[in-house]
Amino acid sequence: MNRYNESFLEEIAPNVYKINEFDFDLVFLIVGTEKAMLIDCGTGLADLKSFVRTITDKPLLVVATHGHTDHIGGLLQFEEIYVHKDDMLLTWLSKWLRKQSAGRYPHVLKRHNLSFKNIPKKECRTKFLPLHDGDVFDLGGKTVSVFHTPGHSKGHVVLRLEEDKLIFVGDNIADDLWMHIPFTASLEEWLQSAKRTLELSDGYEVWWSHKSGRLTRHHIEKNIELGEKILKQHKKNDFFKSEKVYKDEESGFKIRYRTDMIFR
Ligand SMILES: [Zn+2]
Repeated sequence: MNRYNESFLEEIAPNVYKINEFDFDLVFLIVGTEKAMLIDCGTGLADLKSFVRTITDKPLLVVATHGHTDHIGGLLQFEEIYVHKDDMLLTWLSKWLRKQSAGRYPHVLKRHNLSFKNIPKKECRTKFLPLHDGDVFDLGGKTVSVFHTPGHSKGHVVLRLEEDKLIFVGDNIADDLWMHIPFTASLEEWLQSAKRTLELSDGYEVWWSHKSGRLTRHHIEKNIELGEKILKQHKKNDFFKSEKVYKDEESGFKIRYRTDMIFR
């Protein structure tokens, strides 16, 4: 059976939970006194909605950091999902690709006893609601602010939980940053977003959407440093795409990028 269990759940602040999506990525659940918010909805390989309902029965908002399969794969389990307009198309396309995407990691599927035959069938006609820079969600004692941070995808957003001083940076800051895939913004635009994220994270605990989830502001600074070095190495965009990896030998941090999408 494709099933979550208690060991996948960790309370990272009062009424704020991290849910391990079978080691593919992380989903966060914030429970306020009036409403709850799910940051991303995982792979869609198991019944996330029922699992969330074992934690809270509050009205639930689902917000996507960005439109990749491992972050929005579960959207058909929910009536509505908030997505930035620049990621609507990507999200719509991604929802059909969750199996292909997960199928590239057979060892992870095996480790968690996940089978494509057991993907939950209950599906909604999910409505896409627009998410904007500057949106604020009041969940009751938990306020979440939205910041548009184009980079890893064009409609990527960072979410900040004000009371608990947590900032959720999705996949836009990473020890191995993926900027080589379709639908990214240019590296130059990403660099601006990373600098904005550094400012926004002052005094906040940084969480991204993979591995253990914890990052520090040092990771953001390191990402910025690598991005600046890449920009210095190139004068203009290549006409044809080629993929490159820039690796910092000392820290092991990487940025994977495409040479036709360096400058805006
Ligand atoms: Zn992603």
